[in-house]
Amino acid sequence: MTHDFIIKARKIVTVSSLGTIDNGGLLILNGKIKEILSAELVDQQYDLEIIDMMDYIITPGLIDCHTHLLEFAPSSLYPITQETHFLAAHAIILEALSNGITAIGEQLCGHPQCDFNIEHYRKLTKTLPIDCSFATTSITIGFDQPVHFSAITSSTAITKEQLLDPLLINQLAIESDYPGENLFLNATPANFTAETVPRAGEIVYTQEELNNIVNLYHKNNKKIGIHVAGKEGIDMALEAGIDVLHHAHGITKEQIKKVSLLNKVIVATPLGGTHLIPNSPTDIAQLVEANIITAIATDAYLPPYPNVDWLPYQDTQLRGPESLLTIAHPSMKLLHDNGYNENDILALLTLNPAKVLGKEQHFGSLEPGKDANFLVTSGLPGIEITDASHIYAVYLKGKLIINRLLPSSN
Ligand SMILES: [Zn+2]
Repeated sequence: MTHDFIIKARKIVTVSSLGTIDNGGLLILNGKIKEILSAELVDQQYDLEIIDMMDYIITPGLIDCHTHLLEFAPSSLYPITQETHFLAAHAIILEALSNGITAIGEQLCGHPQCDFNIEHYRKLTKTLPIDCSFATTSITIGFDQPVHFSAITSSTAITKEQLLDPLLINQLAIESDYPGENLFLNATPANFTAETVPRAGEIVYTQEELNNIVNLYHKNNKKIGIHVAGKEGIDMALEAGIDVLHHAHGITKEQIKKVSLLNKVIVATPLGGTHLIPNSPTDIAQLVEANIITAIATDAYLPPYPNVDWLPYQDTQLRGPESLLTIAHPSMKLLHDNGYNENDILALLTLNPAKVLGKEQHFGSLEPGKDANFLVTSGLPGIEITDASHIYAVYLKGKLIINRLLPSSN
C-alpha cells in the first residue's frame, strides 16, 4: 500500500526548470509526484496527511551511475562464499540507501570467484528497494599477462580474440540496460596495487577493433560507454563514436571542446578507477562550463587514488557509497563559488546520472509525473553537507525507506 500525502519544507530544490521553491511542498499520489506546490498552494485545505519538514530541504534522491556494488564488492568487504554473496549485497545496498542513493548503475564484468549471471542479479534487485540498471561489460585487467572476463562468460577467463567475437559483443549489447563501462579501452588496475598490474593503462584495442564494437552496439540500438583515460584513448573513443566516456581522466582542454561539440556524456570518478590521476574539481568545473552532461559517480568500492589534494583520505581503505558526497563536494563547492545555481550543481548527482541511465523520464528531478524519490536533509547535498547523518529521510516511490528523524510508525 502506498500512502498519499503532502510533504512541505523550507526549500525544495527541484533540479528542473522550476528551480528552487521556498516554503512549498510536494503532493505525492501513488508513489509519484502529482504536483509541486508553491507556498500559497501548500497552505490550502487538502484532504491528505501533511508532513511538515519545517526548516529542512527536499532534493531529488541521489544517483550513482557507475558502481560495482553487487558483483565485486561483496567478496572485497565480507568473507562470503557463493552461498552468502547476496546476503552481503543486501547489506551494501542498505549502505547506499542510507547515504541517500536511490538508483545505481551497476557494472557486471564477470568475476573469477563467482558464477552468477545477469539474471541472478536482476532477480536480486527486483526484491530490493532501489532502482538498479545494469551495464554488461567485458573487462581487461593489466597484470603482467592481461586477463579478460565478460558478464556473459562470468567466471571463465577469456582471450583477447574472444573479446572481439561479434557473438559475444552482440550478447553484451543486448543484455546491457545502459551505457556503463561496457568495454575497457585501457587495461584497468582494478583494486590492485601498481606493482601487481604493470600493464594497467595499456590500450587494449586498435582503432578498427573499437570502431567495429561500437558499430555492433549501435546496430543493436544500444548506446555504448567505455572505461577510458589518457589523451590517446579519449581520442580513439571520440573517433569511434562512443556515447559515454567513463572516467576520462587526463582529458585535455581541446578534447573537452570536442566532447561538447559532439554532445557526448562524461561520468567523472574523482575517487579513482584508472591508471591516471582522477578528475580534479577544476577538471569537472571545466566539463560543466563546456555544457557537457556530466555525472559524478563513485565506481565503488574503490581505494582512493593516493595523494590527490581534493580527497580527504589518508589511507587506501576501500570506499563505497558513503564517499559519493565527499568526493563530489570539492567540485560542487567550486561551481557554487563560481556562481552556478544549486539546481545545476545538484544535477551532477541527480538529473545527469539519470540521463546516463536513460531514466530521466522517471526520476532525477522533482517534477509532476516522476517517481517520488527524494531526500530530506539539513543542507544541500554535496554543497553544504557530505555526511549521511544530515540526510534525515529517504523516500523511494513515495515510501519512507530511511529514517533518521521521523517517528518510526511512518
Ligand atoms: Zn568501474
